[in-house]
Amino acid sequence: MASIFTKIVQGEIPSYKIAENELCYAFLDINPLAKGHTLVIPKKEMDYLFDVEDELYKELFAFAKGVALAIETVIPCKRIGIAVLGLEVPHAHIHLVPINSIYDIDFKQPKLEFSEEEFKEIAGSIREVYESENQ
Ligand code: AMP
Repeated sequence: MASIFTKIVQGEIPSYKIAENELCYAFLDINPLAKGHTLVIPKKEMDYLFDVEDELYKELFAFAKGVALAIETVIPCKRIGIAVLGLEVPHAHIHLVPINSIYDIDFKQPKLEFSEEEFKEIAGSIREVYESENQ
């Protein structure tokens, strides 16, 4: 059965899309630790990040870099933190989390809630910067 993230890539499930290219896709995490918390995935469904073949792995991290730079342009923060868990969704993904302190990337912290309008606004602002820097 296709993973929930494959369904997002195929447009069967909606997402707050940030960016995509031929191989990778980025969208807002719906249970964010911080405003702008984004997931970056390979379109090809693989459970474990470190099983992803080298070429695609490099492409994924290069793509994540462009996305991270767009996030930090829009969301005031000291850094974009990066995390890999994969305990919930068996489709390789990288968390990009705007952080000001180590606590901001503690997955035990309560998640933030945003309205659909707010999610759309956040994604739209980051997408606009990403597209202006990467097209
Ligand atoms: P993990 O697999 O432990 O890295 O966690 C999976 C992450 O995916 C969690 O932070 C969820 O909030 C997020 N997530 C699950 N379903 C969706 C979805 N449909 N859209 C966006 N994010 C999701």
